[in-house]
Amino acid sequence: MKSAFLLIPVMLSSLAAAADVQPVELHQQLSLPAGVTDKVVALTLDACGGGFDADLANFLIERRIQATIFATRRWIRRNPDGLAVLKAHADLFDIEDHGANHLPAIIGADRSVYGLAGVADLKQLKREVSGGADAVKAATGTAPRWYRGATGEYDPEALKTIEAMGYKVAGFSVNADSGATLAKKQILRRLKKVRSGDIIIAHLNKPASDTGEGMAEGLQLLLDEGYRFVTLRDAQVVPVGGR
Ligand SMILES: [Zn+2]
Repeated sequence: MKSAFLLIPVMLSSLAAAADVQPVELHQQLSLPAGVTDKVVALTLDACGGGFDADLANFLIERRIQATIFATRRWIRRNPDGLAVLKAHADLFDIEDHGANHLPAIIGADRSVYGLAGVADLKQLKREVSGGADAVKAATGTAPRWYRGATGEYDPEALKTIEAMGYKVAGFSVNADSGATLAKKQILRRLKKVRSGDIIIAHLNKPASDTGEGMAEGLQLLLDEGYRFVTLRDAQVVPVGGR
């Protein structure tokens, strides 16, 4: 009887600790080598699930804009034509790991972020990360170096686990399309705030959204201002405050 009473506060405190874990959104910018005076930005485009925004990809190809594509295994399997376009321009597009099934790096299937349930445990997180990496390697012949979890939100424990697997975790400093939900003029407003060193996030998997048109117009403005685009492949990044 006595021991049962003792157990209760312990259980309550561990439940409270689990509920207190707040996912973090990673904000990063490029760490530009000393002496770099030109305007440099990294464009990252997530291919979560869904389709392929051929108009946006064609715009990037025509303007010779480099981009890092975070693709899930699910997207790779569903979009062989889109994948072929990206692979045909390997000088522009670096394909990195966005997980196997677009599960957020949040521990606990009873927790969710932006409506997506978390992974059950660290074991499932590792399967999500390595399943995506294997798919990228099989599709491109090149092993990914970077990971971005679904929704871009991470439990601190999940972050450590992914980094211990050997991946760099990609954040961003400018959220250009809020999950492909923004109207063209909102996207433009956000891209007009881009500064050198920024890492931009938008989406390549929502052809019916305003993202393609808004990004094309906004990226053209950046080109006109003299910005050049790099991929994350060999980039160094530094944490920054949210904007
Ligand atoms: Zn995604």
